[in-house]
Amino acid sequence: MIAIPIYNTVAIPGSHIYFKGEVFADIAGRDAKTKDEVVLLFARENIQEQVLSQDLFFPIGALGRVTETDINGYVEVKVESRVDVETIMVDDENHMEIIFGHRPDIEDLEPEKEKEELKKIKADIIKTVTRFQWGNMVRGFISKWESFGEVATSIAHRLLISNEDKYAILETDSVSHRVELLCTAIYEFLEMTKISNEAEEAQESDNRKAYREAAIKKQMEYLQKELDEMHPENISDIRKLEIRIEEAQMNETAKEEALKVLGRMKMEGNHSNEYGMLYDYLDFLTSLKWKKARQRNIDLNEAQETLESEHYGLKKAKQRIIQQIAVMNLNKKQSGSILLFVGAPGTGKTSIGQSIAKALKREYVRVSLGGVRDEADIRGHRRTYIGAMPGRIMDGIKKSGVSNPVMVLDEIDKLSSSYNGDPASALLEVLDPEQNSTFTDHYMNVPYDLSQVLFVCTANSIDTIPEPLLNRMEVIPFSGYTATEKVQIAKKHLLPKAMKSMGISEDLLKVNEETIRTIISDYTAEAGVRGLKKRLNALCRVAAVKLVKGEKKALRISPKKLREYLDAKPMRHDNVLENTRPGIVTGLAWTRAGGEILFIETLFTKGSGKTIVTGQLGDVMKESVQIAITLVKSMFPESTNLFKENDLHIHIPQGAVPKDGPSAGITLTTALASLVRQKVAKPDYAMTGEVSLRGGVMPIGGLPEKLMAAVRAGVKTVFIPEENVEDLEEVAKEVKDKLEIIPVKEVGQVLERLEIS
Ligand code: ADP
Repeated sequence: MIAIPIYNTVAIPGSHIYFKGEVFADIAGRDAKTKDEVVLLFARENIQEQVLSQDLFFPIGALGRVTETDINGYVEVKVESRVDVETIMVDDENHMEIIFGHRPDIEDLEPEKEKEELKKIKADIIKTVTRFQWGNMVRGFISKWESFGEVATSIAHRLLISNEDKYAILETDSVSHRVELLCTAIYEFLEMTKISNEAEEAQESDNRKAYREAAIKKQMEYLQKELDEMHPENISDIRKLEIRIEEAQMNETAKEEALKVLGRMKMEGNHSNEYGMLYDYLDFLTSLKWKKARQRNIDLNEAQETLESEHYGLKKAKQRIIQQIAVMNLNKKQSGSILLFVGAPGTGKTSIGQSIAKALKREYVRVSLGGVRDEADIRGHRRTYIGAMPGRIMDGIKKSGVSNPVMVLDEIDKLSSSYNGDPASALLEVLDPEQNSTFTDHYMNVPYDLSQVLFVCTANSIDTIPEPLLNRMEVIPFSGYTATEKVQIAKKHLLPKAMKSMGISEDLLKVNEETIRTIISDYTAEAGVRGLKKRLNALCRVAAVKLVKGEKKALRISPKKLREYLDAKPMRHDNVLENTRPGIVTGLAWTRAGGEILFIETLFTKGSGKTIVTGQLGDVMKESVQIAITLVKSMFPESTNLFKENDLHIHIPQGAVPKDGPSAGITLTTALASLVRQKVAKPDYAMTGEVSLRGGVMPIGGLPEKLMAAVRAGVKTVFIPEENVEDLEEVAKEVKDKLEIIPVKEVGQVLERLEIS
């Protein structure tokens, strides 16, 4: 008998299997004829286009009969019973002949029970399909099923069970068990259909809900906006913050945090303690400018003009600033190297920072670091603290109102560290271009990009700046002004500004150059011009009173009137001494306020070899005293007895500011030499330099300031360490012209020149 392979199909007695006419003919080797009997063989796998053999098939097949040869091109085979496959023969054309035996069913299903089961499963199938719109169309068709064979015919191809499981239904001898297996597969299928249908529905309703929510929100926003516009005074804090957060263009992390805090504010309600804190936080966050500023090219000539117009002199600093702007233009960046302006107060460090901002057409903000001891001052307090605040850097950014200000970090040398962390290391992070794009203030707790900020730092001295911080910066010295420069600054800047601020026009007040010179020499003692500015302001105030009272129509201030106008006595200056005696020598010192001269006085009194040191002394200077004594003893061995039999008193009179130690070594040695040799050192000679035990003169700092002070005090000749000769480049010509400068290698050279050796 002809055998036809089937795969992945449920074939039970009573069910129908359909084959395409030509497929059937191809497999059978002839066309189908009604009433032909065929054996249906269950393939173990999909055997399309394989050479057929017995082991490809399961051992139980089904005997069927062709009932229709052409239903729309299909052949219908009705399954009638089951067979045991015995032998399969395959011919050259891949057609199969089969020898088989009948395999009876075990008829253990009561007809009543079968009816009942059939009814139940039909009802369930109908219930499921009517969930779908097309369900009603097939309902009538289902209700006509009269056997499980018909159920299998219609539903078998949809069942979600494997080929093996489908075969298992046929393989089962017990009819009731067979029906049971079929029903289980059908119920599972119905459940699956239900679940996926429910999931689809749920998804649909979720989507619908989301659409609805979005639409409602939009409407609410629109209505709220209308209301806000009608009554701007009624907009609630929360609403205002909400608008500000939306408009602030924050980075994602910041926005997320802001919305989170806003959510908490809503929950807290405005009577809670925390509400105010949260409000302050969001107020701060939204007042910052988050949007990056556009980089713009700066015209160098214009920038140069701006710098020139605001500050007199300062050639080197201005030159360096212009270079920086040029590099920023080329790099298309808003920041560059960090410049550190170092010099005495009033030398224009901070104000030139302001001019840089003007030249760059950017905002300026000054952050004072004087007295900062805690890390939190730089990086803010965590918000968990009561009264927590942002750090000074972020506060500065807020004040500037932009994301790319020129930020002057003032007095960076006055940072100190405490048990509350090291502010310098926090500052390192601020200034480090690798890290500062995500600078996170503790208060803000979200990163802010500082990479667009141009930092400029100022300091009086580099001595106290921590090394790692100093390494990040480029030091530009502001060595103070000569008297001539000060006159120019007063004439061109300070006086006109003072007069303008008090509303005094040029024709009402005349201050001639000589008067200005006198103010500089007799009423100020400084490297910068801060004192001068104060004096000129005071002068203008007094003049304003006189003019307003009508005492005079116009005023002309001569040096003589200064005492009255400035309401102060001329200062007593440390000028070179006129009369002197052995043991006194003029030194030059550097202080934070600029340069100063100092007199080292030494005296022997009868005693027992004690050394008494008085005056303002740093520890280092005390060491210098020891070195000087040893040195003098070795240079003048005959003096040893003098030191033994007398007490030595060393005094450094005057000086409110501690003077630096090492550079007084040469002066101490010379004073002691002068004392033991009882030879006067010429008073208009001054000196600076450290000495070694071998008598070598070593280099010192602050040469420009010291030489300026020497000129101010009337010194004619100065000895400087030979290694400092290079620094003379930094010294104004006017100063160099007024001094004889003698570089020395050894202290002996000084003694020789002063004729005390
Ligand atoms: P610093 O920061 O070095 O202590 P400031 O920048 O505060 O000094 O300067 C003090 C005052 O002196 C400011 O009013 C400044 O305008 C003025 N000033 C300093 N140097 C100059 C200068 N070269 N030209 C014009 N004004 C100057």
